[in-house]
Amino acid sequence: MTSPPEGVEQDYPLQRLTTIRTGGPADWFARAGSSERLAGLLDWARERSLAVGVVGSGSNLLIADEGFRGLVLKLDDDLATIVPEGRRLLCGGGARLPQASAMAARLGLTGLEFGVNIPGTVGGAVKMNANAYGGDLSRVLEWVEVARPGEVDRRTPVDLGFQYRRSNLEPGEVVARASFLLADAEPADVKRTLADMRSQRKAAQPSGIKTFGSTFKNPDDPRAEGRSAGQLLDAAGCRGLTVGGARFSEKHANFVENAGRATTADVIALMAEGRRRVRERFGIELEPEVQILGEVDTSELRS
Ligand SMILES: Cc1cc2nc3c(=O)[nH]c(=O)nc-3n(C[C@H](O)[C@H](O)[C@H](O)COP(=O)(O)OP(=O)(O)OC[C@H]3O[C@@H](n4cnc5c(N)ncnc54)[C@H](O)[C@@H]3O)c2cc1C
Repeated sequence: MTSPPEGVEQDYPLQRLTTIRTGGPADWFARAGSSERLAGLLDWARERSLAVGVVGSGSNLLIADEGFRGLVLKLDDDLATIVPEGRRLLCGGGARLPQASAMAARLGLTGLEFGVNIPGTVGGAVKMNANAYGGDLSRVLEWVEVARPGEVDRRTPVDLGFQYRRSNLEPGEVVARASFLLADAEPADVKRTLADMRSQRKAAQPSGIKTFGSTFKNPDDPRAEGRSAGQLLDAAGCRGLTVGGARFSEKHANFVENAGRATTADVIALMAEGRRRVRERFGIELEPEVQILGEVDTSELRS
């Protein structure tokens, strides 16, 4: 069997690569700082029949307590840069979305303001079709380069099958690069919008806690009568509800926080309880937004 490429680490703890800080190690872990390195790692994983997982900023990610049996990749260096080119921002998949938003503002480019408070990477935002304040990723995303073993292809938003907090990217497909095509604006206006969005966010959401943001998607069920997942959880008595080290935030009932030594199992049990209460009270099945890496029993989180 081929030995691992240089820099591939074994039994690598993943907790610190997530914002909720739970979960176990990856059998194999590597950083990819260039397209060539990424291709080499994907080829090696294919030769060894290893499953491939990608971690961005880990801001929407729950890792199984038993960890991940395969290779986990994190993009950095050349695959995490943001390079302006006229009205375009050419980004590595590992570039941070708030940094791209801030750079666009400085350059007097509009369209990426919604990303200022989304603490993820460009690749994670594409995978999740991330959004806020009525922004729209698909309106400004020009193309992405997607890598998988033996090939790289370029896809447009139409190819990505975007739905609410979802794309059609398959597990193991890696968004290596992306191009945003923005429009001209006054830098001061764009900066003002970013400042407004930051203060709105500060008022509405807890800060300084270990969380992956919204736990459940907002339902489109008519019985919700326009209420968000957070409002339904709150009405069902979930604000502050705790299981083990995991707790629904006092400030925002749709945020789970790691209040101490939470495990992923605690988080799943808390989510299942929140979901059960909302189902009992309103007949609505909440659908998780958070992504899972590794083997986790999610049977109680599905309809
Ligand atoms: C405080 C807080 C506030 C948030 N607010 C918002 C918000 O307003 N709107 C919103 O939409 N989301 C929000 N989120 C959720 C999260 O930030 C977004 O979903 C973000 O896009 C995830 O990006 P990430 O890099 O952290 O991805 P990760 O959490 O690391 O991964 C999420 C998924 O994307 C995949 N992935 C990551 N990188 C790549 C890549 N390069 N190629 C292919 N797949 C990849 C992972 O494998 C996983 O399936 C919030 C989260 C927090 C903690």
